[in-house]
Amino acid sequence: MTKAINKKVPAPYLTIPQLKTLSHLQTLIRFKSITPNSAGGIEWLAHQLTDLGFSIEQFSTHNVTNLIAKIFFGAGPVMAFSGHIDVVPATRDGWLADPFDGHIINDAIYGRGAADMKGGIAAMLSATQTLINSARQKQGTLYWLITSDEEGEAEYGSLLIAERLAQQGVQLDGCIVGEPTSHLQVGDTIKNGRRGALSARLVVNGKAGHVAYPENTINAAHVSAEVIKRLTGITWQCDEPSSQTSLQVTGINIANVVDNIVPARCEVTFNIRYSHGYKSSDIKNEIQLALGDLQPLLSVQWERPCEPFYTSHQTHCCLLTQVEQAIFNVTGSYPLLSTSGGTSDGRFFANDYTQVIECGVRNNTIHQVNEHVPINDLLKIEKIYTQLLVNIFTQPDSKHV
Ligand SMILES: [Zn+2]
Repeated sequence: MTKAINKKVPAPYLTIPQLKTLSHLQTLIRFKSITPNSAGGIEWLAHQLTDLGFSIEQFSTHNVTNLIAKIFFGAGPVMAFSGHIDVVPATRDGWLADPFDGHIINDAIYGRGAADMKGGIAAMLSATQTLINSARQKQGTLYWLITSDEEGEAEYGSLLIAERLAQQGVQLDGCIVGEPTSHLQVGDTIKNGRRGALSARLVVNGKAGHVAYPENTINAAHVSAEVIKRLTGITWQCDEPSSQTSLQVTGINIANVVDNIVPARCEVTFNIRYSHGYKSSDIKNEIQLALGDLQPLLSVQWERPCEPFYTSHQTHCCLLTQVEQAIFNVTGSYPLLSTSGGTSDGRFFANDYTQVIECGVRNNTIHQVNEHVPINDLLKIEKIYTQLLVNIFTQPDSKHV
């Protein structure tokens, strides 16, 4: 270990609230919350939010812990912050410091989840504290929706939180997701949607026989080649320049290859990342249509469906505009809108009524050895979140804290 690695206290130029944000993140990193374990992280957050006046609803199922925290200021916008406390695993190998200790090295906080997405949670916690402690008149309702099941199958996490809110008759106007969306600078990119995802396991059922008498066989390998040609040749008419559909074959499998037998069975697996112009049912229809006359030889099993979502600008109380404005106020530039990347929990909260925007720190080290977030980046996203909360929840004539 070098001297720099042992430096646990950052430079003295930081203010006390800024130091608090750093300390929040270090605390969060120290909970070994590998999916689906909360490892005390959600309990700690619930405690912090209770101190701020939130009411808490915590529920667990299949080892997943979920939190719905709510504070009501008065009539006005109903907004949520969505996040996940869980992280992907990390061993000590290759790390400059223990991945579950939150060391500060060269003015960056290192640790699993520093960027994905405990950094976002720490920053939003500080922003929430600033909002609550502000003497200004507040309006609306703020929810904190946190799960410990985002990095896994996401079966018992935000999906159940969204269902529970619906049962309670809660309709969110908007939801900010604290995922790391920035590219080169904090605030340069936000996600106003995500593509959908769908996997398929397709089996070609041919007819085996001697290779010397192919006329008596149906070669499953040859049919699968035609299947792949058709699948990859589909034109996706509903695509948009910012949201393109792509189909990738992920496996071609023929068991027990023998050089004088025509294979009877071939399994082709593929994954489709599709534009928000489609629903998963449309994607299935397009594929069935393309396979047409081959259908009698095929069976398809669909797996891991994730619906897309997309938030466009709206004329009244537009969360997208508010996020863009907060970023401009802090960084001097407007963000790029993107729908790229994998799926996210945003899909569970998005609907015709609820605008969902993902906005967070840079994603260049997420899921990697030595995941980290520069202190300046963390403080910048905290500033953006604070601007945003103040804009949303304080009266128009009292926008300064
Ligand atoms: Zn994440």
